[in-house]
Amino acid sequence: HHHVLYATREGVESVVDTGHFQPEAIHWQRLDGYREQGGYRLLADCHEGRVTVETLMEALERANLRGLGGAGFPTFKKWTFVRQEPGPRYCAINADEGEPGTFKDRYYLERAPHRFLEGALISAWAVEACALYIYLRDEYPGLHRVLGEAIAELEAAGLATPGYIVLRRGAGAYICGEESAMIESLEGKPGKPRHRPPFVAQKGLFGRPTLVNNVETVYWIPEIWDKGADWFAGHGRHGRSGLRSFSVSGRVKRPGVHLAPAGITLNELIEEYGGGMADGHRLAGYLPGGASGGILPASKADIPLDFDTLQAEGCFIGSAAVIVISDQDELRAVASNLLAFFADESCGQCTPCRVGTEKMLSLLERPEWDVEQLQRLSQVMMDASICGLGQAAPNPVLGLLKDFRDELAGQHVIVRG
Ligand code: SF4
Repeated sequence: HHHVLYATREGVESVVDTGHFQPEAIHWQRLDGYREQGGYRLLADCHEGRVTVETLMEALERANLRGLGGAGFPTFKKWTFVRQEPGPRYCAINADEGEPGTFKDRYYLERAPHRFLEGALISAWAVEACALYIYLRDEYPGLHRVLGEAIAELEAAGLATPGYIVLRRGAGAYICGEESAMIESLEGKPGKPRHRPPFVAQKGLFGRPTLVNNVETVYWIPEIWDKGADWFAGHGRHGRSGLRSFSVSGRVKRPGVHLAPAGITLNELIEEYGGGMADGHRLAGYLPGGASGGILPASKADIPLDFDTLQAEGCFIGSAAVIVISDQDELRAVASNLLAFFADESCGQCTPCRVGTEKMLSLLERPEWDVEQLQRLSQVMMDASICGLGQAAPNPVLGLLKDFRDELAGQHVIVRG
């Protein structure tokens, strides 16, 4: 077991990490191995003018690479916005990966930290960033060591100026995955989301224009360049394009990170990648996007899963964390577990979220669910919360009220109204 230092509101404390996870047991690809496979060639081509930023952005546009942290914003466009702002600029990589059910970034970082670092350095180059920050969640202590060693390898090999890459740890707050809260945290302040505008592309880290990209987004850049934009865009189903790393958990035979075509349906994902439903479990519903992305019933397991495709259902795919729920799961427990999470992780800055999440949790714990009350409270939270946490917190409850009335009744939850 390892002692891990956590920054808390009261100060720094040392806790024993009792997880099964042993940081020294990670086998990652070292610099030599990555270079033998052609690694860091694209970065050198960028630095030495053989590849221009325009060419690279054109490739990312054709590949349809979008922000895989959850927002799905086209990567080339984000680069363009930051490049339009005056220097000095920063690049910050969001490795906070706090959305419940999401573990794809960890999966890639544990295996190929150099491929990620190459993508991150290329993004920093693309906006001529004066420094590259990596914000890593503190629950990944093994990865902190891996990235630290990988960065040291790069510096020793002369591939990165010592000090250019700054590896920073979070302190266990979900909200620091929200980009403006992450920036506050990087500046040494409590992680509280900022009002927008200004956007971080205009006024981000230390008040300067900042490019914030997710780990997986930049991880794809070297591969898209090597294999071609058409290769990446050529994947996809049901009219969608690209590849998505689904973090699949819950009642399936084979949970894990499954790289699958964008637009795959849940039924296809479970059958073709998840090994089918776990024995003795029948599909009841699923959360398509972690805790925030809402909840859908088994009857809607044929909708293509991608950015933009779940809007009509009031749901979103986010970071593609798919949590599969079966007839064995208690829906009231699902709802109150999620609301307890949001109440705990609310930064407390605004009332609709700070009070609303607690209030909703107490309403869910009553023997009878009052639809009118739950819907009114949801509306206030969605309309008046500063950031996505408070805005998305009612999603699972609204989904249950919309699509799970029979199942709730079967589980003795009385829904009134
Ligand atoms: Fe903080 Fe919640 Fe308001 Fe977001 S919505 S700023 S997490 S209190």
